[in-house]
Amino acid sequence: MQSNQDNIPVVATSDVVVVGGGAAGVSAAVSAARNGCSVTLLERYHHLGGMASGGMVLVLDDMVNGKEITVTGIVDEFVQRLQKEGMAIVPPVEDRYASDEMYRKWARWGVHDFHQAQKPQPIVYAAAFDPDAWKRTSLDLIRENNINLRLHSWFSEAIVEDGAIKGVICQTKMGRQAIRGSIVIDTTGDLDVAISAGADFTQGQYIVTTVFRLANVDTEEAERFEYEEPEEFAKINRQARRIIGGAWEMWWLKTPIPGIVWCNCPHMPGYDGISVEDLTKAEYEGRERMMNLYHYVREHMPGFENASMLGAAEQVGVRTTRMLRGEYVVTKDDVVNRRHFADTVCRGRDYYTPYRALLPTGVEQLIVAGRHYSAEPEAQKRSREIPPCMVQGQVAGIAAGVALQKNITIRSVDPKKIQKIMRAQGADPGDIPSDNATGVSECAA
Ligand SMILES: Cc1cc2nc3c(=O)[nH]c(=O)nc-3n(C[C@H](O)[C@H](O)[C@H](O)COP(=O)(O)OP(=O)(O)OC[C@H]3O[C@@H](n4cnc5c(N)ncnc54)[C@H](O)[C@@H]3O)c2cc1C
Repeated sequence: MQSNQDNIPVVATSDVVVVGGGAAGVSAAVSAARNGCSVTLLERYHHLGGMASGGMVLVLDDMVNGKEITVTGIVDEFVQRLQKEGMAIVPPVEDRYASDEMYRKWARWGVHDFHQAQKPQPIVYAAAFDPDAWKRTSLDLIRENNINLRLHSWFSEAIVEDGAIKGVICQTKMGRQAIRGSIVIDTTGDLDVAISAGADFTQGQYIVTTVFRLANVDTEEAERFEYEEPEEFAKINRQARRIIGGAWEMWWLKTPIPGIVWCNCPHMPGYDGISVEDLTKAEYEGRERMMNLYHYVREHMPGFENASMLGAAEQVGVRTTRMLRGEYVVTKDDVVNRRHFADTVCRGRDYYTPYRALLPTGVEQLIVAGRHYSAEPEAQKRSREIPPCMVQGQVAGIAAGVALQKNITIRSVDPKKIQKIMRAQGADPGDIPSDNATGVSECAA
């Protein structure tokens, strides 16, 4: 251990330390606990969920390959718990097909398959949810699984001894604190832990977005206008998108709370999602742009006349920063061509992720899960939705359990064993390739 780490108080010791309480981190912590590990979960902010709550990214998608539901596991528990509270909206099975009627009924929930070129795009299994309910559900699962949660703990340095990670140091209001563990799972989204531990990485960058919500929107009137006066709608919508300067065609979507919509915009290029200067500038620019749009739609867009600004998300939406260069780097070709791997342990939509893409080189007892997994930036862009990040977390937790139980390194855990446990615990590890997979090896089941 380095000498400057010697005098730091050790405030917790557990089998597994998970750093980052986003969707991947909560999933990893719950999974590790369910697989026999004592777990400490560290999070810099006061809430759990990361982009899925603080970033107000409010649709779970990328869970289907045509009619097949491919992403399952802890994500299902979230959907079911949120639905029970009325805080997740999922289209019923009988509505999941392509038709003008279904599109009009569901598209403003963001539950259509936007990867399909066909118009209208089919309605699929996906969920629109509420951010605070996501935070509550995360806390409930953490408490139910006896996980030692430490909020307000900002990871600052990895403790590495003899080539293996032994814990982490956090900066807190109480000073620096050490948390020790046999296995560390990096779910910070920006690869903070792995980089500090010496892992190789790639620098990625993509647009950042100040997501915000509007209240008092008459969504029925807004949808009537969109479908019954398409030409006038197109004109106003074009101007709205020009004013915000960076927005998808469907820049507003409904949420489970009537009259409240989330606006996945403005998209702002050229910002580095880990730079203090850039993130500070983005707060100014994002707010300025969202207010411009707000004033415009109140004046011009039917349904938005009485809208109120509910405010921007707590965290600016960052999609891509630093990514692992692990044992295997997933390529754009792998994702686009749906390449199957013998060591596939997770999947999203129609693509597959090998266990090697969660393992760093050069440091032992560390595994990663979530948007910073080992992929080319162009591959990550197509494979970083919330549900697959959660499956990766579930895998990392299972792998930790197996490693500790067998007293082996996490790197040497047999992916076949992970696949088996995933299936037993209700998650699809992607070991059985779908009909449209490519590169299927003979050893795949
Ligand atoms: C604007 C936007 C729109 C998107 N749209 C969709 C969509 O519609 N559907 C979808 O499924 N996905 C969407 N995505 C992608 C998706 O939201 C993310 O890829 C996913 O949520 C990432 O989850 P994660 O757990 O890997 O990372 P994050 O959610 O980023 O979680 C990382 C966690 O680690 C914590 N952390 C970071 N650093 C530290 C540190 N040093 N110490 C302690 N804690 C730390 C963070 O506070 C956070 O809680 C969107 C993303 C953005 C930004």
